[in-house]
Parts: sequence; structure tokens; C-alpha cells
Amino acid sequence: MAEQTIPLMENLVSLCKRRGFIFPSSEIYGGFGGFWDYGPLGVALKRNVENLWWNFMVERRDNVVGLDSSIICHPRVWKASGHVDHFSDLMIDCKGCKRRFRDDQVEAGKCPFCGSLELTEPRQFNLMMQTYIGPVFDEEHRAYLRAETCQPIFVDFDSIRISSRQKLPFGIAQIGKAFRNEINPRNFTFRSREFSQMEMEFFVHPSEDMQWFEYWKSERTRYYRDALKFDMDKLRIHDHGPDELAHYAKCALDFQFEFPFGWQELEGVHHRGDYDLRQHSEYSEKDLVYFDDQTRERFYPVVIETSVGLDRTILALLCAAYDEDEAETKKEDKEVDRRVVMRFPAAVAPIQCGLLPLSKKLEEPAQAALQPLRERFRCDFDVTGSIGKRYRRQDEIGTPFCLTFDFDSLEDHSVTIRHRDTMEQERIPLDQIENELAARLAAF
Ligand code: ATP
Repeated sequence: MAEQTIPLMENLVSLCKRRGFIFPSSEIYGGFGGFWDYGPLGVALKRNVENLWWNFMVERRDNVVGLDSSIICHPRVWKASGHVDHFSDLMIDCKGCKRRFRDDQVEAGKCPFCGSLELTEPRQFNLMMQTYIGPVFDEEHRAYLRAETCQPIFVDFDSIRISSRQKLPFGIAQIGKAFRNEINPRNFTFRSREFSQMEMEFFVHPSEDMQWFEYWKSERTRYYRDALKFDMDKLRIHDHGPDELAHYAKCALDFQFEFPFGWQELEGVHHRGDYDLRQHSEYSEKDLVYFDDQTRERFYPVVIETSVGLDRTILALLCAAYDEDEAETKKEDKEVDRRVVMRFPAAVAPIQCGLLPLSKKLEEPAQAALQPLRERFRCDFDVTGSIGKRYRRQDEIGTPFCLTFDFDSLEDHSVTIRHRDTMEQERIPLDQIENELAARLAAF
């Protein structure tokens, strides 16, 4: 584990709590392992990432359509998908400290927490979360919270295809909650029990499978580079070897991100074969076979899936953005004044522009001059504290630009724009500010 790891994660977790990005669920009751709440800035970040993904995957394409399915669906769905019987991890209990671990976390037969050698044999542990629907709590009324967002896509395949008049190749995308009873939630939000996924299932003719697999691999690379502006040194592709592949999969790869706690999976691109449509056809007794009216061919489409965790994307963005550097003001005694700065790209930054009247006396004219910007940009109007403190607050939440309205603004009808990363300041006439800001944010 790198030396930087713990301090960086500690600093990040504390910033997320302090500034209202993410904090433990039910905190006043001591928290609840694997569940997290997104505060005001976290919600904004989350929505921005969702919107970017949706825009990239759905809105810019004619051949991908959306779905928002129920979280709980017919229990047979999860029987057909194999989750009820096979969605499990091997777990080991430590008889010493009574903690429970995934088999792959235990090395050399030793408890990773207390070092005890008194461990149970590995046992299967199903990760599906269960509930009961209706007034009777018995086997017949048992249902499951979805463990992934893609199964309802397969179940709804025919009605979506028909209602949207799609022909192969086409995709169905969904963003939504998934639930897994993870044995050991850890690394902040990285492994949670409730999380959101952004998944797209692309249905193709079996003869075109590999060309579409390559296409989505390159599209998803483009998304990380151009939409999320990832440093590509922090992203790598891991091709699954034969021992890692699901039994129905022809090939698969992970996009891995270099988190402070190591390289970890962010997204999977999977060739799922025709397994899901076949299974649901068999279990529902509704034939989901596709009929090509040009070639008169009947077949089950092959599925290429792109599946990414929204929370993991946000964690990656938070880790990549966190930085500390020298602030513009140095103290007299030459002690360096450090600032924390979240270097978010403008497209995901919770606030794009801080609106700062220099003095409380300027609140009204500043509002009148700057309020219209809120129709177009995500802004935060902040009047409390010295201007230096306010810049620092905006840096800490990753706001790319601040506009300061000072006493001269009343005369010269201009404001000072300050760049988060360079800390450079410039005077800009108020009548140009909207276009200037739009151009600068687009280039940020
Ligand atoms: P892992 O090996 O990390 O458990 P997985 O291979 O089971 O992940 P998939 O079932 O392919 O993951 O899910 C697709 C994506 O959903 C993952 O790449 C990840 O981003 C996200 N994801 C999966 N499980 C969790 C979780 N417990 N908490 C947060 N995100 C998750």
C-alpha cells in the first residue's frame, strides 16, 4: 500500500463530510455499514455525472434508448438470471475477532484484522438483498432488491424494441440503484451495499459481436478522456482471462482506475452472449427471439454490455481532483499557506461559478448584476467572510471560477474573474461576462 494512501483517503473522507459531499448514512445512530448519503454538493456532483453519462450514451445516439424500471421485480427474474442460485461470494469467519471476510481477502489462512489462525472453512454467501411483498412473510412472498440494473432491460427487451421501433443493432440504457449484501463494504463508497449503476445493453447480430465489443471499448475510452477528462495514466484496461469470465461470456474487460488504495475496477464491458434473453425466454415462456424482416432470420441477439458504478465514478473523480498547493497569499513569517483544491473538470463541478460581492454593502447591486447567470450556470452566491476565505472555500469544493463584484464595479460595470487553478485574476465587462464564462467553462 503506498504511503500516500491513508492520509489521502482520510483527508478526502473528512473533506467530503465537512463540505457536505458524502457522509455515512444514519450517522446520528452511529452509521450503517455500506450505506452513504450524498449531501448538497454530492447530489450536484452525482447529477452532473449522471447527465454526462446519459448524454454520451443515450441523447447523442439514435440507436440507444432509456429505461427506468422498478427496483423490485418478479422473483422469477432473479431465478432466471442465476442470481438466486449463484450470486454469491465465498466468506470466511474469524473465530477470534468474529469478523467476516471475503475469501479473497484472507491470505495464508490468517485473519486480516486480528491475525488469528482460527478461521472457519469458506462458505457460500448469497449477496441478494431480500424483502417480503404483501402481508405474509413466507417463502412464497419473498422478493429481491435488484442486484444489477441490467436484468429488467432484458425482461423489457421486447416491449422497448416494439414501442421505440428499434431494429438491431440497438441499445437500452438505465441508471438506477442496485443492492448487494456485500460481506465487507470498504474503501469509503467503493464497495457499498446500496449503490447506483449506469448500464447499457447493446443488442447485435451474433456475426457482428466482436466489432461492437471493440466499438464500445473505444467509446467508453473516449468518454473517460473527453467527457470526464480523466488523466489517462490513471486508467487502464484489464482483459479478463478465461478463469475470470462468466460461464456465458465470450470476452470481457474492466476499466480500472488507480485509486489511492490500488488499481480497482471502475467499469466492466462484457460480451454476455445470448444468455440473458434465452434464460428469460425459458423462464417466462415468452419467446424473446428476434425476427429480422429483411433476412427473414430468427435468432437471439448477442449482448454487449457496458456497466459502471456511479458511486465509483464519483469516488474516482474525488480522488483525482483532490490536491493541496500553495495559495496566493503567503504569511509574513514565510510559512507557506497551503490550500486544498478540488480540481474537478467544469462539466462535473458542483458549482461552476462563485458570485462574490466584495462587501456586504454590495450585496444588492451584485445580485442584480450577477443573478441572471444562474439561469445558465451552477452558481453559489457567497457574502460571508473575507474574500480570501471565500476563494479558499470555493477552491475546496472545486469551483472553476469566481466573480468578484467590488466598489469599482459600480462605476466601470466590470467584475474580476478568478481562475481556480492558476489563481489568476482579470477584469471583465459585465455585458460580456455570460459569453466569457461559457467559453471559459467549455475550455476548462
Ligand atoms: P467487484 O468485482 O468490484 O465486486 P463486479 O465485477 O461484481 O465488481 P459488476 O457486477 O460487473 O461488478 O458491476 C458493474 C459495476 O458496478 C462495477 O464495475 C462497479 O463500478 C459497480 N459496483 C459493483 N458492485 C459495487 C458495490 N458493491 N459498490 C459500488 N459499486 C459497485
